Amino acid sequence: MIDTLIIGGGAAGLYLASFHPRCVILERGDECGRKLLLTGGGRCNYTNAAGPEEMALLFNGNKAFIRKVLYAHTSKDIIAHFRTLGITPVEEDRGRIFPKGGDAKAIRDALLKGNPRIIHGKAESIRKDGDVFIIETGRGRIEARRVVIATGGDSFPQTGSDGSGYRLCRQLGHTISQPYPALAPIALTPSLSAAEGVSASVSIKAGKARTEGDIIITRLGISGPAALDISRHLSPDDEIEICFMRISKETLRMSSGGKTVKNALAMPPRLSEALLGSLADKRCASLSRQELDRIESQLSRFKAKAKAIRAGAMNTKGGVSASEIDPRTMGSKLVEGLYFAGDIIDVDGPTGGYSLSFAFASAYIIHKALESICL
Ligand SMILES: Cc1cc2nc3c(=O)[nH]c(=O)nc-3n(C[C@H](O)[C@H](O)[C@H](O)COP(=O)(O)OP(=O)(O)OC[C@H]3O[C@@H](n4cnc5c(N)ncnc54)[C@H](O)[C@@H]3O)c2cc1C
Repeated sequence: MIDTLIIGGGAAGLYLASFHPRCVILERGDECGRKLLLTGGGRCNYTNAAGPEEMALLFNGNKAFIRKVLYAHTSKDIIAHFRTLGITPVEEDRGRIFPKGGDAKAIRDALLKGNPRIIHGKAESIRKDGDVFIIETGRGRIEARRVVIATGGDSFPQTGSDGSGYRLCRQLGHTISQPYPALAPIALTPSLSAAEGVSASVSIKAGKARTEGDIIITRLGISGPAALDISRHLSPDDEIEICFMRISKETLRMSSGGKTVKNALAMPPRLSEALLGSLADKRCASLSRQELDRIESQLSRFKAKAKAIRAGAMNTKGGVSASEIDPRTMGSKLVEGLYFAGDIIDVDGPTGGYSLSFAFASAYIIHKALESICL
């Protein structure tokens, strides 16, 4: 009988094992931490210099819950723990912390230094019989006294997080709020595909959320930092509004006289054509009032239906309801001996080292809870 089984050897599961090497990890992939290796473009932006209060404000989800988790193990604590594992932090813009040497593999390998026991296999189902959890895997049955679900959400399924963790949580009676891609490229209707490959600095609004930054136009819509950030605030079939450029109608008509609209605008002609269609080829001096209105609204308030694209999402909005988890232990309020860490929980943060900070902090809280049980 295993004392504590961690289902999922990703960021959260490995962080917990680095404090608590007596745990056994059940990992479906051939190696642990496959998503960790991709983080930060292969350099792993493993936390952010921001304090817990500042961080909590940027997350979606139950704020009181998120605050408790982030205060219990702050970015200073994460940096300190990695220092003990031989990782020197380097701070970059926007407080982003990377390992010196810029290699995500160093982070993954540091977490494996305690040589936790790893069983390779996929948890297919789970139930509790008396005090014992029974986990069926493709390679046989495992029994454990305590189980930590650290299977991630359903983003980047090629790294192992295929959403099967949600099924395990449901089997134990937990509520899953609808998973939806976050930090994802966005499909737009109408798309701007004629300008595919063009980059722009924009501001974007979705409901009450607003962000500024760079985007790149794709075949289906938009990607790039500002698109990823706003995708966290989208619900299915939301509309977004993009400001590509603010220009006064009078400036356009008076100062650009004989030029065509696309030559008068300080933006790549392919983008003005995609936004304005045949208006882009008209001479500025000949534009009617309605045409000027149309140009102004397309450039400064381009509206489109928006849908976050699952393929390419870096995170998942939705997951196990935080109201069913005690933030002091990360233990289930429904099933004794069951714990949750990382992306499986209904919480999501922006880019910048926030998601990993939450995964690590939630794992640390479980370590403390297990330590107090085992004393
Ligand atoms: C391309 C990319 C770049 C990113 N960059 C950053 C960054 O720089 N900074 C940042 O803070 N965040 C980043 N993130 C987000 C971050 O990687 C996640 O928030 C983090 O990995 C979540 O950790 P986790 O342990 O919850 O899940 P994961 O790391 O996804 O690990 C889950 C593990 O569980 C295993 N598993 C799943 N189901 C089962 C099952 N049924 N049985 C057994 N094992 C199972 C999987 O194989 C996997 O190993 C990035 C994400 C992506 C996709």
